[in-house]
Amino acid sequence: MNRIEALVRPNIRALCPYSTARDEYQGSLGIFLDANESPYPTGWNRYPDPHQKALKEQLSAIKGLPAENIFLGNGSDEAIDLVFRVFCTPGVDNAVAISPSYGMYAVAADINDVQVRTVPLGPDFSLPVEALKAACDAYTKLLFLCSPNNPTGNAFDPAELEALIRDFPGIVVLDEAYADFSAKGSLRAKVLQYPNLIVLQTLSKAWGLAGLRLGLAFADARVIRLMSMVKYPYNINQSTQELASRALQEPVDGHIAEIIAQRGRVAAELPRYGFVRRVFPSDANFLLVQVDDADALYAHLLADGIIVRNRTRVPLCAGCLRITIGLPSENDQLLQSLDSYEKGDIHR
Ligand SMILES: *Cc1c(COP(=O)(O)O)cnc(C)c1O
Repeated sequence: MNRIEALVRPNIRALCPYSTARDEYQGSLGIFLDANESPYPTGWNRYPDPHQKALKEQLSAIKGLPAENIFLGNGSDEAIDLVFRVFCTPGVDNAVAISPSYGMYAVAADINDVQVRTVPLGPDFSLPVEALKAACDAYTKLLFLCSPNNPTGNAFDPAELEALIRDFPGIVVLDEAYADFSAKGSLRAKVLQYPNLIVLQTLSKAWGLAGLRLGLAFADARVIRLMSMVKYPYNINQSTQELASRALQEPVDGHIAEIIAQRGRVAAELPRYGFVRRVFPSDANFLLVQVDDADALYAHLLADGIIVRNRTRVPLCAGCLRITIGLPSENDQLLQSLDSYEKGDIHR
């Protein structure tokens, strides 16, 4: 048994996956009487490609990795859930994750009855390398890292991440939902070198397609095959495949550049308010901002119709709001609302 197989749940290792009609015959021309579909063309009367071949080829060209190293899910959330289902025996295996980080790792773990051991980030939200290693035992199958991290906004040093990937005996899930906004870039090419690395990306942020639900996982081809075996056969519907394919033809570099410029502008404006204690450096499309009274400022912004995320009850984030960078005009309105808050024009 190789190293990856040894990490897989025994029932998944033995799984005989469902074979769809589209697996057995893969041509596109002919009279299809194999899948009990309706013959009347509604636009959606045929089952979609369960392997999303065309979309994966397109993403392969964009991302510079072979299609066999790409998994597509109903958002990154599907990939997160699948990783638990493929590798963790409920009630036996565990996962280690940094804290604070994206809430779905712990929720997916709870749903799958897998213990998560959270390790607080170090000073200035640094990667707690030694504490992460100390939290692992013989039953630790997964290590969740997120870079740039949500909600702290910082990206970790790629060399430090790579050293962890090299040393960790289990699967490292590196969530790069915000990598398009970071000068530190992506480690996705490293999946060809490290069979225990799964890199998650998404079309929900930089690509502006959150409503479509399309998440990407990059990994060793054996890991991709395991995830594909466990997913619902037709997990990406026909419309999502077509609409994503069309959207991927339109470059988003201009939007990304504008968000990064606006992030710099808002980050430079915020410290001039007396109630702002700290603006944390961000490699993402949001800013984590520590203020004197997060609940009061949250309520003030809300009364002005501006919705931000109150993270004051999250570990290491006392007093913090997470503010997404919007259109320049929306950021103007945010700053105007902060002006009125500073002047004491508080809504009652
Ligand atoms: C927004 C976000 C995602 C994206 O999730 P989708 O299900 O693909 O929309 C993934 N990870 C993190 C850390 C995020 O903040």
